[in-house]
Amino acid sequence: MTERIDVGLIGATGTVGRQLARQLRNHPWFRLAQVAASSASAGLAFGAAVVDDIDDAESAFGSELLDLPLREPADIWEPKLLLSALPSAVAGPLEIELAERGHLVVSNASSHRMDPDVPLIIPELNPDHLELVDRQRWRGGLVTNPNCSVVGLAVALAPLHLAFGLDAVSVSTLQALSGAGRPGPSAGAMVDNVLPHIAGEEEKLACEPQKILGTLAGSTVTPAAFRVSAHTHRVPVSHGHLQAVSVRLRQRAEPDAVAAVLAGFKGALGDTRLPSAPAKVIELLADDNRPQPRLDRDRGDGMTVSIGRVRRCEVFDVKFTLLVHNLVRGAAGAALLNAELCRSRELTEQVGAR
Ligand code: NAP
Repeated sequence: MTERIDVGLIGATGTVGRQLARQLRNHPWFRLAQVAASSASAGLAFGAAVVDDIDDAESAFGSELLDLPLREPADIWEPKLLLSALPSAVAGPLEIELAERGHLVVSNASSHRMDPDVPLIIPELNPDHLELVDRQRWRGGLVTNPNCSVVGLAVALAPLHLAFGLDAVSVSTLQALSGAGRPGPSAGAMVDNVLPHIAGEEEKLACEPQKILGTLAGSTVTPAAFRVSAHTHRVPVSHGHLQAVSVRLRQRAEPDAVAAVLAGFKGALGDTRLPSAPAKVIELLADDNRPQPRLDRDRGDGMTVSIGRVRRCEVFDVKFTLLVHNLVRGAAGAALLNAELCRSRELTEQVGAR
């Protein structure tokens, strides 16, 4: 790839949007050219809107971005490729409108993840599902990434599903504060405390992994046939969702064999080189006291899923602990990797021309 192409960022002032803006600085394939937020921020320069919680905005975002004016998402956009970090409550109709206008929208929001004609992509797991874009009804296209906890879970389940077949999964999550967006729960609610409910999260964990690990045939994805039961909790950790996972396999396997399959997972990208793809999709940690959010979330620049404590489960077959950086692998990095996959498949050139 020799030329950088312009991209637009919607929801640029939010938790995920700011992380995307950081990761787009000096990106080899993309140049952040336009940014949008809510009508309350429109008209402000990006730098003025994000000054509240950053000491050195210039080194984080670059001086050009600080001066860019914030627009509203429904405005006319120059770039064909738009990254969306909008709240789901507003993403639904807006993202469709932008796809209808000929843009390729790569979205973090949950609004369209389960739509039959919208691919739900983790590039190392199901890059073939991108073909769904060809069958979409809009002039442009819409591609989504999964929920932040689902990304980590699906990455761990993919090699196990391939090697042994999955029957049932039980997962209990300990989710970081940054997963709640801005402003998030109050300090008063979180100090010395754990919240035992995150709206909508258990439902996403119960259905998104099966779509990702499903089979594309013609114009539909047949979901993989396993069940997921989830408990989700908000904990006072800044970044990094920890998950305690138990799996029942279709073909019985010892913990050592499961650990070997997880450690050897290469992913489905083959020779496709994407700038944000980590060298290791999964890193298996030997120490019983790992993974831990503070120590392990930044592995592979936040894109590697860390797994430890693979052992026999007294109820299912095998259990383990995993950690995913919710803001990077689970959100901004996930969307960026999807955008890179789209560019590597020349989708960014094709949409809008049809
Ligand atoms: P957030 O911190 O609340 O940010 C929301 C962004 O959307 C801000 O830029 C905000 O602009 C803008 N916005 C709010 N209402 C709007 C409206 N009516 N019209 C246009 N723009 C509007 O949320 P977030 O945590 O970044 O999450 C963004 C999306 O990513 C959500 O769909 C979320 O579910 C998903 N996601 C988040 C995570 C995570 O770890 N946080 C992980 C995976 C997926 P203002 O600054 O002007 O209000």
